[in-house]
Amino acid sequence: MHPVVEKLLALQKIDSRVAQAQRKLDAVPNETAKRRSALTRLTAERDAVKNRIREIEVEIKDLEVRVGGIETAIKKQEEHRDNAQNASTFEAARHRIQLLSEDRDQLQSRELTLIEEQEALQPKLQELEEKVAAETEVFEAYLKEAERLEAELREERDRIAASREEYLDGIPPAQLSQYDEIFRSRGGIAVVALESDHCSGCYTRITPNDRAKLGSGSAIVNCKSCGRFLYAP
Ligand SMILES: [Zn+2]
Repeated sequence: MHPVVEKLLALQKIDSRVAQAQRKLDAVPNETAKRRSALTRLTAERDAVKNRIREIEVEIKDLEVRVGGIETAIKKQEEHRDNAQNASTFEAARHRIQLLSEDRDQLQSRELTLIEEQEALQPKLQELEEKVAAETEVFEAYLKEAERLEAELREERDRIAASREEYLDGIPPAQLSQYDEIFRSRGGIAVVALESDHCSGCYTRITPNDRAKLGSGSAIVNCKSCGRFLYAP
């Protein structure tokens, strides 16, 4: 193998490890955001149930007030009816009582429906409260762990990156900048092995002339298609 390519290959191992640590580091905030939004959704679901229960309570109170009013009115009409001096007064009171009773029954039936809904929501709320509490605990533990992991990955990345300097020795500036450019633009792979006369980076066949150069290690050969540095393993 050409000595410069050998050095570039060693450098690539270092750069790959740095890139890998960086990728893991970049994944942490995404994971945090994903978990945070799942918890937010769960909390919103609980709040919706809580709000519905509160709405029901308010409506039930309102209904009770209205039913009370109607019952007072019925009593008054009953007095009219019982003290009626003639048939038409009696009939008018009786009719009003009937209408008022119908109204009251309707309100009470609505009240019953609401109470049933409320009773069905209570265990659901309880379940969601427990879920939110448990998931919050899990999320907080995760946050601590994520912070620890980030610090560890950052430390690892910086430690490996710091050792990069010693791998640069003996690499001419032109090849180094060419390598850096390919590493950046070609998915972190700038030096690749030859695989049965093909560049293993892009699977383009190389010429017999390049094949000979690679065999003897006499010259630096770049793939004509992807530009990567080649070596014969
Ligand atoms: Zn190639």
